[in-house]
Amino acid sequence: MKVYIIGAGPGDPDLITVKGAKLVETCPIVFYTGSLVPKEVIARARADAEVIDSSGMTLDEIIEVLERAHKEDLDVARVHTGDPAIYGSTAEQCRHLDRLNIPWEMIPGVSSFSAAAAAVGKELTLPELSQTIILTRAEGRTPMPEKEKLPMLGQHGATMCLFLSVMLIRKVQKELIPTYGEDCPVIVVQKASCSDQKVVKGTLSDIHEKIRAEKIRSQAMIIIGHVLTSTDFADSRLYAADFGHKFRAATRPATERQPAN
Ligand code: SAH
Repeated sequence: MKVYIIGAGPGDPDLITVKGAKLVETCPIVFYTGSLVPKEVIARARADAEVIDSSGMTLDEIIEVLERAHKEDLDVARVHTGDPAIYGSTAEQCRHLDRLNIPWEMIPGVSSFSAAAAAVGKELTLPELSQTIILTRAEGRTPMPEKEKLPMLGQHGATMCLFLSVMLIRKVQKELIPTYGEDCPVIVVQKASCSDQKVVKGTLSDIHEKIRAEKIRSQAMIIIGHVLTSTDFADSRLYAADFGHKFRAATRPATERQPAN
């Protein structure tokens, strides 16, 4: 018996991994975190599977379900949205599973920040412009560690993806304009990868008005950074003609090979 903690992806039901989908199709218990998990993913469950929605349950009640499955020796597909490793509240479950000696394994998923980048067709890391992505959130009810407050993180100027923050957009503007500048490009993608996805493009100074006009209040990813609009970035070294690359050398005909450096 095992509990498989599976990332269902950001919304498009085709964006679950093959491994995750196979587990949803074979586990006798499919235990999912509510309406944000695509219903087509849950519909993969076998006809005789017990399908349970954990939204509205307390952590203790969730653990009771997993404990019962363990006693009955039934595998569980525990399905979370996006990637389970990011704001998934999976760690507290796993801590209980360890305490109860219940085996578990995590299966990654496509996170909403990847889906939001795909929605606008943008690479988030560009040579010499930003080689770092900060995945974070604005401080709301959950306090941020002192060194991770937005004004502090903003000092890096790296591409920043904000989860759980669309309702705090004014605070995001106020705290990031001093480091990124008023004209820094911002995109907000609501329900990335879903059929009713919305994309709003703006700058740190006008994004609030734009998302208010679109009535975006939840399920939205905010991406901030100059990578979103830059066109004069340097080419990547990976494909440069003078870049002796071991892998490329090995896959090209011997006559074309350059000495590896
Ligand atoms: N584990 C999830 C994140 C869960 S936290 C992941 O990897 O994506 C919930 C937050 O994720 C939301 O507030 C929103 O900021 C973001 N989010 C989740 N699904 C989204 C989607 N389809 N489009 C845009 N943002 C999404």
